[in-house]
Amino acid sequence: MKSRIIYGPILSRRLGRSLGIDVIRKPGVKKNCNFDCVYCQLGHVGTKISYKGEIEGLVTPGEVVEGIRSYHRNIEDLDYITFSGTCEPTLNPGLGEMIRGIRKISEHPICVLTNSSLVSFEHVRLNLAEADLVVATLVSGYEETFESINRPAAGIGLESIINGLKAIMCMEKRPRLGIEVMLLDSSTGYPVNSTDREIARLIEVIKTIDPDEIEILTVSRPPAEDFVLPVPDVRLKEIARRFDEEFGRDRVKLVLQGLKKKSSSMKHDNVEEEVYDLILRRPCTFSQIGASLGIRDEELNPIIEKLMFSNSIVTIGSKSGRYYRAI
Ligand code: SF4
Repeated sequence: MKSRIIYGPILSRRLGRSLGIDVIRKPGVKKNCNFDCVYCQLGHVGTKISYKGEIEGLVTPGEVVEGIRSYHRNIEDLDYITFSGTCEPTLNPGLGEMIRGIRKISEHPICVLTNSSLVSFEHVRLNLAEADLVVATLVSGYEETFESINRPAAGIGLESIINGLKAIMCMEKRPRLGIEVMLLDSSTGYPVNSTDREIARLIEVIKTIDPDEIEILTVSRPPAEDFVLPVPDVRLKEIARRFDEEFGRDRVKLVLQGLKKKSSSMKHDNVEEEVYDLILRRPCTFSQIGASLGIRDEELNPIIEKLMFSNSIVTIGSKSGRYYRAI
């Protein structure tokens, strides 16, 4: 089934209601990333994208602006327009131009979710500087743990990422920077980044970056690797308290599961495509799909049945429920 580059809205505790944008689309490829994180909700990546080669399937700034123009007027209460989806947005060199183009037609704040891999490049930082908010992932202050969890493409190292994040904070014109700390446990004992040793090192490193905010969360959707486990709430709260003590409560957000807002009241052009577009970017439970897109159960049921029957989606179980994932 074909998908569009604009999808959603997605409801999340962090950003409220946001419209998503994918900036790399290749037919038949479900993920375009230079990482292969053990916790990735999109499953495994066939080939990790290397930054050095030619990147296929780059979406153009014109396509993004046109997509936003025709899509977002259907949604009344949008909190953000967000670059994320099935790819790492900073892999597209046109990101800055896309953001400038969207600003001409929309007043909504713009956010980029990045895995931080390319922030050591000045042109990437300049592109990110166009956004209102950049949420950058950092899973560890240790190279070995970073490599075991994020499994980056060759040539991407933790030290250059940390230096790049520090450089963003020193830019004259810069976005608000949030560091997303994705914590996980493991049924095999490794890799794990929620131990006291890991947390102490993360705090030390994040102090040197000095970001505007820090978001602490754990795995909630079915991960790429079966051994990945979410960190229990009680431990997450304990860790959040440690961050609070170091950075102050105003800067630290503990993201627990759940939705921030009530259902969407968006108008639909093609509800079946919208359901598929959402599931393609983010495995969802039945109720998450309904709440994000504002669809009643009676309307959603036959759509899910049709997508299952055509082998466009499958169900996967996880501790937090039954999810639908695109295949
Ligand atoms: S979690 Fe994000 S950064 Fe990691 S592999 Fe998946 S898409 Fe890439």
